[in-house]
Amino acid sequence: MSKIKMTTPIVEMDGDEMTRILWKMIKDHLIEPFVELNTKYYDLGLEYRAKTNDQVTIDAANATKEYKVAVKCATITPNADRVKEYNLKEMYKSPNGTIRAILDGTVFRAPIVVKGIEPCVKNWKKPITIARHAYGDVYKGVEMKVAGPGKAELVYTDKEGNITKELIHNFEGDGIIQGTHNVTSSIESFARSCFNYALDIKQDLWFSTKDTISKKYDHTFKDIFAEIFENEFKEKFAAAGITYFYTLIDDAVARVMKSEGGYIWACKNYDGDVMSDMISSAFGSLAMMTSVLVSPAGYFEYEAAHGTVQRHYYKHLKGEETSTNSVATIFAWSGALRKRGELDHNKELEDFANRLEEATLKTIESGKMTKDLALITSLPNPVVLNSEDFIKEIAKSL
Ligand code: NAP
Ligand code: MG
Repeated sequence: MSKIKMTTPIVEMDGDEMTRILWKMIKDHLIEPFVELNTKYYDLGLEYRAKTNDQVTIDAANATKEYKVAVKCATITPNADRVKEYNLKEMYKSPNGTIRAILDGTVFRAPIVVKGIEPCVKNWKKPITIARHAYGDVYKGVEMKVAGPGKAELVYTDKEGNITKELIHNFEGDGIIQGTHNVTSSIESFARSCFNYALDIKQDLWFSTKDTISKKYDHTFKDIFAEIFENEFKEKFAAAGITYFYTLIDDAVARVMKSEGGYIWACKNYDGDVMSDMISSAFGSLAMMTSVLVSPAGYFEYEAAHGTVQRHYYKHLKGEETSTNSVATIFAWSGALRKRGELDHNKELEDFANRLEEATLKTIESGKMTKDLALITSLPNPVVLNSEDFIKEIAKSL
């Protein structure tokens, strides 16, 4: 059998711990036997990040700008424990944060829906993708404890020194204050990423805020989305047969619960943080969530939503058998290969990506799965496979 050729490389970002082990197995068993894999390889494993003072992460992000498509393995975000464990010179920043800052993107998280893993919400038939704005609001909030009676104000001083003030509250006793902000350019990028991604996957886009209460702050989000939609996307949406729908956040939550799924739900930073955990747990498992960073300039970086599965890695190091779910990482690869195929008009590569996903789902639907899924499946008598055997079983089907 001749292998499928790739005319343009994708950027490959290797990672850490158990997902690094799965990464190699996926390449060995599921991709390289079928595709003449063409990647620009960057090792984002913590050891090499430390060796390059994190320059490799920056290089990988810049390469993504050049080649437009990347696939990333889960990586360790160092904390105090990791600094000790890996003998780090400093606590390097989260690679995802570094990459996002360079590509200026929005993260879209979608559950992988498969027969046998039923969502807790019984009417959900299709995936619900959450798009979370990744800048500002309470995550860049400034807070103050007020000790006693006094006046709190918002004060803005422009470059010429002109001052605008707004009374927050006349405190009669002690209390608390919080100042949050966002910037127009970031909201605009967020909106464009959402509209572009909806066109890309041909699904309706929902957006929700609390504009009735927050008449300037949240209302600005609503207005920016509406204006960009009118001016840049209305006709494209009509041609693609999809719609843009704005509603209040509380109304959105009520509608989501009663819906069938099958759309993208764009959320402000805090709403997206909360709702994406709600959606992923209700759909079954974090190990079945994909994640793609889409930049307003049209760069795509695919990954799994879960982390490096540290606990399983330590078992693996001790020589014990693991049953780690590789589905989200496989879908990161298929997502990147399909996008590469689309951009290069490489139909064979696109078809391969679709077949890889079908083979993965078919394997689970035939009752063969990893332990995490066996614990929640509605299929009778599931067969629990170890990490490698599960991947080999997919390879057989493929
Ligand atoms: P995690 O790797 O997502 O794993 C947490 C737990 O969830 C696991 O111990 C496991 O539960 C279950 N789980 C997650 N993915 C699974 C899979 N594919 N198959 C089976 N079970 C799975 O989160 P963590 O342990 O909190 O974080 C580990 C490291 O990952 C941290 O250093 C963190 O910085 C990093 N991280 C990276 C990313 C990223 O690169 N995007 C995202 C999140 C976290 P059981 O142990 O009960 O089996
Ligand atoms: Mg969260």
